[in-house]
Amino acid sequence: MAGSMTRLPKSFRLDRPVHAVFGSIYEVRTEEPIVHLTYDDGPHPEVTPAVLDVLDEFGIEATFFMLTRQAERHPDLVGEVCRRGHAIALHTRTHRPLPELGWRQLIDEVITARKDLEAIAGVPVRWFRPPYGADGWRGVPITRVGKMTSVAWTADTHDWKGLTGEDPLRNARKNLRPGAIVLMHDVPATGSRQEDESRGLVTKEALTRLLVDEIERRGLQPVSLDRLLRAGPPVKRVRLR
Ligand SMILES: [Zn+2]
Repeated sequence: MAGSMTRLPKSFRLDRPVHAVFGSIYEVRTEEPIVHLTYDDGPHPEVTPAVLDVLDEFGIEATFFMLTRQAERHPDLVGEVCRRGHAIALHTRTHRPLPELGWRQLIDEVITARKDLEAIAGVPVRWFRPPYGADGWRGVPITRVGKMTSVAWTADTHDWKGLTGEDPLRNARKNLRPGAIVLMHDVPATGSRQEDESRGLVTKEALTRLLVDEIERRGLQPVSLDRLLRAGPPVKRVRLR
């Protein structure tokens, strides 16, 4: 039985050749003890600066998947994220789910939104993350036409739900491994930082500290996305909805 299994062509594996061309990168296949931290949906005037301070403290280079609409409201923060050595990436203009959009809307949410974000950031934007991780069948070619690489995540903290205590670690732990991409959000869970605090929710800077502690406890090290992608082949998948 084991013998017949090993004779299966590799193309049956979902993350092998066919998917090496299309879809979003979920993780990097590597033995190197490295991971990458990402933040979505910002920039946010109260949360992003607090997260940046913690990242500085640990000397970590993260990726910020920004909404162009947010970037237009807070252009100074885009510059600050960039100046502190992090990658500016696109998360669409307004966070609409790609599978629900027609071509014209997709062009605005991805291609034009990217140009507008680059104009604010003053640097090229190379990475893209579809909202909810859903590529959609039209989203895949749109991302390629836009010459961006789509990046999903391996370990989800579920921080958007509004978490308390060590919840974020419980969620992220099982997929925290070499080559993992970690998902967080640099916006308040409730929409307001004050509201988050009054409900006793874990702040995003506290979440970052919790995760960095856990990452180090496991002998892993956060590195830049470029560095992670050099460590091995990317595992890609397409999510149509
Ligand atoms: Zn998002």
